[in-house]
Amino acid sequence: MIHCENLVKIYKAADLEVVALQGLDLHVEEGELMAIIGNSGSGKSTLLNMLGGLDRPSAGNLRVDGKDLLKFKESDLVKYKRETVGFVWQNNARNLIPYLTALENVELPILLQGRRKRHRALDLLEAVGLSHRRNNKLNELSGGEQQRVAIAIALANQPRLLLADEPTGSVDTKMANQILDLFRELNRSFGLTVVIVTHDPLLAKKVDRVVAIRDGKTSSEILRRKSYQEELLELEQGILAAEED
Ligand code: ADP
Ligand code: MG
Repeated sequence: MIHCENLVKIYKAADLEVVALQGLDLHVEEGELMAIIGNSGSGKSTLLNMLGGLDRPSAGNLRVDGKDLLKFKESDLVKYKRETVGFVWQNNARNLIPYLTALENVELPILLQGRRKRHRALDLLEAVGLSHRRNNKLNELSGGEQQRVAIAIALANQPRLLLADEPTGSVDTKMANQILDLFRELNRSFGLTVVIVTHDPLLAKKVDRVVAIRDGKTSSEILRRKSYQEELLELEQGILAAEED
C-alpha cells in the first residue's frame, strides 16, 4: 500500500530551512494496522501529510496504492485525496457542527461533494457503532462519540487507506481503547489499511506493527543508537504500567 523511500521534506520560510524528514523509508502492506511513534517534532505529522497528499515531499520516492505521488499534478492530488485516503485528526471534532445531529454531520460533507461512489450516512454511523445516537445533536455526544462521527466522515468516500494523526490525543484511556478497537474492526471488516500516529503506548500495543520515527528517520535506520534502545524500553515499561492500571 505504501512504498516510501529516502523521503525528504524541507520546509522553507524566508531565510529559514527546517529539515523535517531526512531520507525516511517506510513500507506498509495492504490491510496492515500500524502505528508510528515518536517524540514531538520528529516528523510524524509531516509524514502523514505527505502520505495523504496534503503536502508535497522535497525529494525521494513515494508510491501509495500503486500511484506515484511525486508525479502528481494538482488535479491528480485532488482526486487522490477524495478517492484513496481518509483522515482523522486529534481535534477532528472541531470541524463538526455542534447544533446539527450526528447523522446530519455525516450527511453534510457527502451532499457537498455530490459523489456517486459513497456509503450512506446511516451505514457509516452504523459502522462506527453510533446509529443509536443518530438524532442526537453533536454537542450532546461525548468526546469519544464525536471522534467516531469524524471517523464516519473519513470513511464516506470508501478510502483504501486511513491516516490518523494522534486520534486519541484528546480523549481518556477508555475512549482511546474504544477508538482503537474501532480501527481494528474497520481494518478487519473492510480490509482498510490504517496508519496511526501516536505517542500513546496503549495504542501502540494494539496494532500489528510499530515503527518509531526520530529526527525524520524510521527505526531501522536508528536501531543501533543507544538512546533509541532506551526509548523502546520506556515504551515497554509504559505498556506494562498501563496494563497494571
Ligand atoms: P510531529 O508531528 O512528530 O510533532 P512535525 O511533522 O509536525 O512533527 O514537525 C517536524 C518538524 O518540522 C518540526 O521541527 C516542525 O517545527 C517542522 N515543521 C512542521 N510543519 C512545518 C511548516 N509548515 N513549516 C515549517 N516547519 C514545519
Ligand atoms: Mg504532529
